[in-house]
Amino acid sequence: MVRFSLQASHKTDRFPVALRVTHYRTAFVPTMPELPEVETYRRFLHEVVLHQTIAAVEILDAHVLAVEPDILRRELVGATVTGTRRLGKNCFLELSTGKVLALHFGMTGDVGAYRHDYDVPRFTRVALHLQDGLRVAFIDPRKFGRIRLADNVTAFQSEKKLGPDALDLTAAELATGLAKKKTLIKPLLLDQRLTAGLGNWIVDEVLFQAAVHPERRAASLSADEVTRLHAAVQLVLRTAIEQEATYRQFPATFLIHAREWDTAPDPQSDAHRFCPRDKALIVKKYVGGRATYFCTVCQPQPQPE
Ligand SMILES: [Zn+2]
Repeated sequence: MVRFSLQASHKTDRFPVALRVTHYRTAFVPTMPELPEVETYRRFLHEVVLHQTIAAVEILDAHVLAVEPDILRRELVGATVTGTRRLGKNCFLELSTGKVLALHFGMTGDVGAYRHDYDVPRFTRVALHLQDGLRVAFIDPRKFGRIRLADNVTAFQSEKKLGPDALDLTAAELATGLAKKKTLIKPLLLDQRLTAGLGNWIVDEVLFQAAVHPERRAASLSADEVTRLHAAVQLVLRTAIEQEATYRQFPATFLIHAREWDTAPDPQSDAHRFCPRDKALIVKKYVGGRATYFCTVCQPQPQPE
């Protein structure tokens, strides 16, 4: 299912008048925009803003600004978008001035595009008016998202102390990051200094796919397990991006269907509550303060130290 059509050129009237990327409304409980959602947003923005010049900046609610409105306008108006980037859960518009506009989507952030005032998506906080008439909306019902300016992506990364993006993380970097760490593997993978973009459900899925218990000490993982973990990061993120973060469409071999907020692939059956490999009941436990789902059979309990 493609939820936004990028086929019609936005330079013509055939472009849908008001469209938005609506991942979280499809789940029973709204989920935070994680790396896969943000990558979907980036691709959307890339289609609509690349090589476009910003004619005006409309601020409907300054709450989401981490920059003075006057400075934002001064830096954006007249600038052309020369590229888009993503690092973890942050999306960037690269500007012809050399600076970047950094978008973080908080709990409920979304993006959209429209042409006329009467089509402005609900909860639009900031709109970029492009020279060709299209407007790009930063939508955020709960207003935890933030819009910033940065000198460049590298400067932003070091200021926010972010590790390499989870999709770019190499097996060697992962091995180095885990070596000698007594921390539990789950909270360590959530630490954005190790790698940027792994959120709660993603880490559970990665550990499940790699058959590693979430309470293992990081340093106790064998070289083989680290290799499996790295492959699982790639598998989970690439699957999620391919499905545009529509969880219901993930393969039945994924743990995610056992989470309460997922809509079961088959509502008539409770099969999703059991491990697809060994049919054991998936358990829920708090690890490092976060709700954690795992299988006690294929993710064996760590040995007592
Ligand atoms: Zn299992």
